[in-house]
Amino acid sequence: MTAGKSMNYSQHNLSDTIVALATPPGVGAIGVIRLSGGDAIRIVQKVFGGKDLTKQASHTLHLGTIINDEGIILDEVLISVFKAPHSYTGENIAEVSCHGSPYILRQMLELFIKKGARLAQAGEFTLRAFLNGKMDLSQAEAVADLIASTSQSSHQVAMRQMRGGFSHEIKKLREELINFASLIELELDFAEEDVEFANRDDLKKLVDKIQGLIRALINSFRLGNVIKNGVPTVIAGRPNAGKSTLLNALLNEERAIVSHIAGTTRDTIEEVLNINGVEFRLIDTAGIREAQDQIEAIGVEKTMEKVRQAALLVYVFDVGEMKIDEILTDVGKLQREDMQLLVVCNKMDTNPYFKPEWLMNPNDPSIPEYFFTEGKRPSHPSSLIPHPSIITLSALHGMNIPYLKEKLYDLVISEQVNLESPIVTNARHFEALQKASESLDDVLRGLAEGVTSDFVAMDIRRALAFLGEILGEVSTEDLLGNIFSRFCIGK
Ligand code: GDP
Repeated sequence: MTAGKSMNYSQHNLSDTIVALATPPGVGAIGVIRLSGGDAIRIVQKVFGGKDLTKQASHTLHLGTIINDEGIILDEVLISVFKAPHSYTGENIAEVSCHGSPYILRQMLELFIKKGARLAQAGEFTLRAFLNGKMDLSQAEAVADLIASTSQSSHQVAMRQMRGGFSHEIKKLREELINFASLIELELDFAEEDVEFANRDDLKKLVDKIQGLIRALINSFRLGNVIKNGVPTVIAGRPNAGKSTLLNALLNEERAIVSHIAGTTRDTIEEVLNINGVEFRLIDTAGIREAQDQIEAIGVEKTMEKVRQAALLVYVFDVGEMKIDEILTDVGKLQREDMQLLVVCNKMDTNPYFKPEWLMNPNDPSIPEYFFTEGKRPSHPSSLIPHPSIITLSALHGMNIPYLKEKLYDLVISEQVNLESPIVTNARHFEALQKASESLDDVLRGLAEGVTSDFVAMDIRRALAFLGEILGEVSTEDLLGNIFSRFCIGK
């Protein structure tokens, strides 16, 4: 472990001036090429037809031309000048906005490289911003999330994280903890004299406070993950239950052809359902439409495999066809403890007598015999379905579809959760928080048992190291390489 900001990041030479395309490759109205490093402005100046850029103030824009070595004007451009340390990376930055032709952009990149810049590595701009103290590591990671965000909620969470998010709070508490650690370590120097510089009650209070924050963050991870990656959802049920019809009603479009003849509906699109900014990723919608598959599938390995990948199971059945015991058996086979369940009683237009409450209480004597296979009531139903998980609707007539959407949303975003509060979306942070929390538990246990200062100090140091990992104050080159290599070049 080395202190993040003073370390030598071996794969890159950080004193180079780097260049990369900052906009997507391809044709666009404009394309932006970004240079960062000590020579950024000088390099652009070498090929710029216009004012002397090296003499311009930071945060200014300049119109001119870029001229290659043959004296040919490549493009008319607008240059933004940012001077160190007041830029994204903390270095000199020149951004060249040109016309978005792949030819121009390529020529221009080659020209800047010829004049002394090096092509940037993936994430190197943000890496430099981190190393120059412009942002902490969790903020840098949020930049990647922000670029990758596809929904309103994932964007919102990444944006907050990038602007500081929970790292400010962690930083503050970590500093308080560092003070305690140093006081306790000071005690070690006076071991013979049995003094206490660090007030144990205050320390316990602080550790409790940090634990509270860390636990809330740990708990937010499930939701954070949902927001960032979507909810893997599986729609299962017997053939002709109305799964395709339901899918179409949810997606509000007729992508798949629904047919009376089982097996005629085939489609291989990965569908994403967006409800209030939360993405439900529908696993294997093609499978839903392969009727033959489904006939064999209930209870068999293939369906189970899909269900294993899911965080949410939507079980659909036809209220005109299915018996109570069959429904409960199907659900019993499919359900898993760590998965959320929604049971959709479909085709309510065909059987107004069906009552969803029966699924919760199949022993209710008022349920007519014909709702059970061969009229036999199960003495020990294999599963009972809790009330909030049942919804009645008609997929064909679009009845109750908005309510179904509301229900899906509520299942994953419980009402208590506030998108305004800090949310952990990053697995690395989650792990570090868990380890920090364990170390803090050790600190509390040590304090309760009255262990000697050196043990308390050791546990505090460990907790500090894990908290520091989140902020990047303690980091390894592997970790940095891992994080920044996932960025695109130009960021
Ligand atoms: P899947 O095999 O589970 O995908 O079932 P489909 O979506 O292909 O539906 C099978 C048949 O049931 C089709 O003829 C649908 O029109 C019909 N169906 C689906 N939902 C309803 C509904 O709510 N009411 C009625 N009456 N028919 C429905």
